[in-house]
Amino acid sequence: MDRIDNYYTATLNDHTAYPTLDGDIDVDIAVVGGGFTGIATAVELAERGFSVAVCEAHRVGWGASGRNGGQVTGSLSGDQAMLSQLRKTHGNDAADFIWHLRWEGHDIIRERIARYAIDCDLKTGHLQTAWHERDVPEYQQMLQLAHSYGMEDDVSWLSRDEVHSILDTPLYHGGLRNRRNLHLHSLNLCVGEARAAASLGVQIFEQTKVLDIKGGRKPALKTANGTIRAKKIVLAGNAYHRLARKQLGGLLFPAVLGNMTTQILDAELAAKINSEDLAVYDSRMVLDYYRLTADNRLMFGGGTNYSGRDINNVADTLRPSLESTFPALKGIQIEYAWTGTAGIVMNRIPLVGKFENNVYYAQGYSGHGIATSHIVAEVIAEALTGTLEKFDVFAGFSHRRVPGAQIFGSGMLALGMWYYQFKEKLAG
Ligand SMILES: Cc1cc2nc3c(=O)[nH]c(=O)nc-3n(C[C@H](O)[C@H](O)[C@H](O)COP(=O)(O)OP(=O)(O)OC[C@H]3O[C@@H](n4cnc5c(N)ncnc54)[C@H](O)[C@@H]3O)c2cc1C
Repeated sequence: MDRIDNYYTATLNDHTAYPTLDGDIDVDIAVVGGGFTGIATAVELAERGFSVAVCEAHRVGWGASGRNGGQVTGSLSGDQAMLSQLRKTHGNDAADFIWHLRWEGHDIIRERIARYAIDCDLKTGHLQTAWHERDVPEYQQMLQLAHSYGMEDDVSWLSRDEVHSILDTPLYHGGLRNRRNLHLHSLNLCVGEARAAASLGVQIFEQTKVLDIKGGRKPALKTANGTIRAKKIVLAGNAYHRLARKQLGGLLFPAVLGNMTTQILDAELAAKINSEDLAVYDSRMVLDYYRLTADNRLMFGGGTNYSGRDINNVADTLRPSLESTFPALKGIQIEYAWTGTAGIVMNRIPLVGKFENNVYYAQGYSGHGIATSHIVAEVIAEALTGTLEKFDVFAGFSHRRVPGAQIFGSGMLALGMWYYQFKEKLAG
């Protein structure tokens, strides 16, 4: 299948046409999946001198990496769960470890964009808004924490009036502005990284679905028209793969998120609704997220369906939220609307590990995957070169398994999310 019709594909720099695998090849590392996890891992490994092949069932960036909100934030999913598990083994160092981990993805992405001259509309600045008055104390704590780590210049608290002087909205009770966070054209980053990987000798195969993975003594990926024999395998298919059910079944839930872009806004209107060109998301469990694109469209996402089923009419579903956020955009034309599937983990800690001694996997970033996928790509590459410190931390986290989750979604998770939405509606 080709990429879906969305804003990202309509503004794509590089229409990739990597070949389909036809025949058998041998490499050091074979990777399943051409999203951020697979491609960033390939870049890391090729930079370290390994021979690498990537198989993508469709096109590079076809999955969540080419459909997301483009917000690169330090919101490491599962941070609280990680902290409480890590404290048992690492004491107070756990907090420092997690804090620094939050920002590593930003550095990797910035450095990669610069090194390989990737054109992906990189911008800085993010606002995490307080939907309820009662969210403010928690935000103040986050502010104190950021300042205690020396981020006084990057993170500041904006009062309700200050938020309203930047965003033309009646919503929110204040917000945390973060100048270190980024936003960008996600698909152009992903295909740019793929181009970088190819320039380093990585063999990328598109329209090449992996049908079977073999670990153990003779690791290999099997596709319809060929086999890749490798020393190690990296499974990076996230919410879209059905491989290794025995080892990974029931650990990840597909959640469908909606996203859309408006018609191009004239510069004056764009500056009126979001004068600092910030990426924004709010404090609710099921949140809205938005930003301006390089050509001044509003990209607006939300409406997460935790049962794993598709969202019927994304534009109609999201329009009421868009218009209550920005009344000035009432009746605005929606030019692209689409969905994508993210991988959610029960405790929100990314699933990173290894089975059969040589099959590594990384998936499940619970909606915060742009930075995290780049962090875990580096962690896996380090593990493959013998530096196991961070890999062992990730692989050591415990996770709950719910049979059938990946195929059917989780009724329990959907119910839980419905409950949060209902509570939030009641609270106003
Ligand atoms: C609508 C939406 C909005 C989001 N917004 C944000 C955001 O603003 N900020 C943020 O940080 N995160 C966001 N996310 C999450 C983020 O996009 C993902 O966490 C991240 O892209 C995951 O990358 P990945 O490479 O692991 O998975 P994917 O990008 O989904 O890539 C997996 C790839 O594996 C391929 N594949 C699967 N099975 C096989 C197989 N058998 N053989 C070969 N190939 C296979 C698929 O075709 C796919 O291309 C959002 C997600 C969605 C869906």
